[in-house]
Amino acid sequence: MIALRENIGSDFVDRVEHIFSPEGLLAKAKNFEYRPEQQQMAVAVARALEEQRHLVVEAGTGVGKSLAYLVPAILFAVERKKKAVISTYTINLQEQLVYKDIPILQKVLPVEFEAVLWKGRQNYLCPKRLERAMNNAAELFTGPEQEELKRIWEWSHTTREGTLSDFSIEPDPAVWTQVCSEQHICTARTCGADSRCFYQQARKRLVSADVVVMNHTLFFMNLGPLEEIDEEESGYIFSNDFVIFDEAHTLEGVASKHVGIGVSQYGLRYVVQRLYNARTKKGMFTVLRNAEGVREAAELADDLDKFFAQIEERSNFKKGREYRVREPDMVADTITAKLAKLQALIVAALKITDDEILKAELQDLGRRIREARLGIAEFLGQSAEEHVYWVEKTGKTQQFISLNAAPVDIAPHLRALLFRADGCCIATSATLSVGGEKLSYFRNRVGAEEVTALQIGSPFDYSKQMKLYVTKKMPDPRDPGYEAALAQWIEHFVEMSKGRAFVLFTSYKTMQSLADQLEKKFAKGGWNLLVQGKGMPRHRLVEEFKKGDRCVLFGTDSFWSGVDVPGEALSNVIITRLPFAVPDHPLVEARLEMIEAHGGDPFTEYSLPEAILKLRQGVGRLIRTKQDSGIVVILDNRIMTKNYGTAFMKALPQCPVEIV
Ligand code: SF4
Repeated sequence: MIALRENIGSDFVDRVEHIFSPEGLLAKAKNFEYRPEQQQMAVAVARALEEQRHLVVEAGTGVGKSLAYLVPAILFAVERKKKAVISTYTINLQEQLVYKDIPILQKVLPVEFEAVLWKGRQNYLCPKRLERAMNNAAELFTGPEQEELKRIWEWSHTTREGTLSDFSIEPDPAVWTQVCSEQHICTARTCGADSRCFYQQARKRLVSADVVVMNHTLFFMNLGPLEEIDEEESGYIFSNDFVIFDEAHTLEGVASKHVGIGVSQYGLRYVVQRLYNARTKKGMFTVLRNAEGVREAAELADDLDKFFAQIEERSNFKKGREYRVREPDMVADTITAKLAKLQALIVAALKITDDEILKAELQDLGRRIREARLGIAEFLGQSAEEHVYWVEKTGKTQQFISLNAAPVDIAPHLRALLFRADGCCIATSATLSVGGEKLSYFRNRVGAEEVTALQIGSPFDYSKQMKLYVTKKMPDPRDPGYEAALAQWIEHFVEMSKGRAFVLFTSYKTMQSLADQLEKKFAKGGWNLLVQGKGMPRHRLVEEFKKGDRCVLFGTDSFWSGVDVPGEALSNVIITRLPFAVPDHPLVEARLEMIEAHGGDPFTEYSLPEAILKLRQGVGRLIRTKQDSGIVVILDNRIMTKNYGTAFMKALPQCPVEIV
């Protein structure tokens, strides 16, 4: 350990600091501008890496935080022979890192390094599975599916990377899932070294890379459940790694989904039907000529539908897509014994099969059935401690049911998984603070109570670049005249900025209604109205907005964060309502109850800070560069009339305020 420390040299932090100085290496890069805030963050990250401790950093917009963590991470990884895992929430940021920032650093930094973008394994074609699928096509696939299989086969001879993104038209998921790489099917027994294996080629690059970029979901999927972490093992995903989470404000949400139960009717039915599908008369048991298996799988598919129909009957979806289940045994367990029987049939079939790849496929299906069986039993018995349980409607037309459970408080899990004594985890985002001391709200939520926190302000001059309008004259949101007044004020402020505005809503219904009311008026003013949810995907809406000269974009949830429109195209951000989350999601409801049960105040300890974070993110859409300027309008008078209004005002950038 001491020798390694000497290897990197005690001047590591100084060297990083110098790289970010006006005379440093980065000054050679195109468009580099010296920013003391960026240098400060880079030094803090370098120090945390050198001392192998965790760090939480809020770096305001414009700090240039990606370079501030990439430079120390790359140097540290190369010099210490470690792997830097960089995890982000959005694909946009991953692309920025891989296609923009990292190539710049490959030119400028004095070390050679390899960086790869890790896509999930199921993105890659498995030639072995494809070959087997082709051999058994008649027994496994319907006519149209066989056509699709043929298309994948032809594509497999021309593709370079063998990943989904190489298709001009993405294949049918029902066929792709049977020919893509799968962890449990890909073993030394099933496959030696297939020279055309795209996944293995990618894996080799992954293993030898110094920097691996991935998303939070993939990170938690590969991190595995708490119990499986080996005490001796020092890494998170690779044996000698450290991790940097960007967009860390999303960590709690993503982690909650992974440390819990999720059994979907659709997924389980699909697994059973891969064994035998009574409608198409195809499946693994047909390939094996296993009559008993065919009969059992066919019956089970029906039994599953009946079981989930009973769950649906007992659920009350009046409040939304989710229904919280507070007591165990919401329905009788009519299904786990049947799933166990099917598993036993799979085990018996395995004994009389020689084909290794078929065996692996069967084992994989058996494992999935087992997981679902245990998940259903746990859901019905509510046996996991301090978890909240709920039923959710899924699918395009909400035609399926899923059973879910998640820990009410994710902090103890993340403390053990991420902020453990032998790890080094750095979490950063532009929005972590809710106005309190040392990012304590965020740190408490993710189990990083003991972790050093650093807050670095934005280099932008908000006092010159931004002006805030607050409308005291707006009626209360519960007032009957609220919507009419909202339409009037939106029109007023859109006119003020000549379009070029984001109008952010908290309710889809209100947004649609306002869009209908204002569409004609906007057209008269020459402003092109773009509305979320009218068929155009989110990224296309943003592209259209950027291209247009005088656009107005109406958006809900996903437009409050992660959208970057620098320049004049966006000169006005209108917040229609303070973004308090409606506490009807079972997880939110359970969190509020838990705070109350511990003698706390759910409003000030959860609802208010969450709303402040979201408001800061919404407001943060406006100023993206030093040249940007514009107005932010808050059309919710509660910011003036309620006591908590000051907490919102204090958390916003310091700029001129006009009350109208
Ligand atoms: S190594 Fe695994 S993913 Fe690759 S061809 Fe073989 S089974 Fe498929």
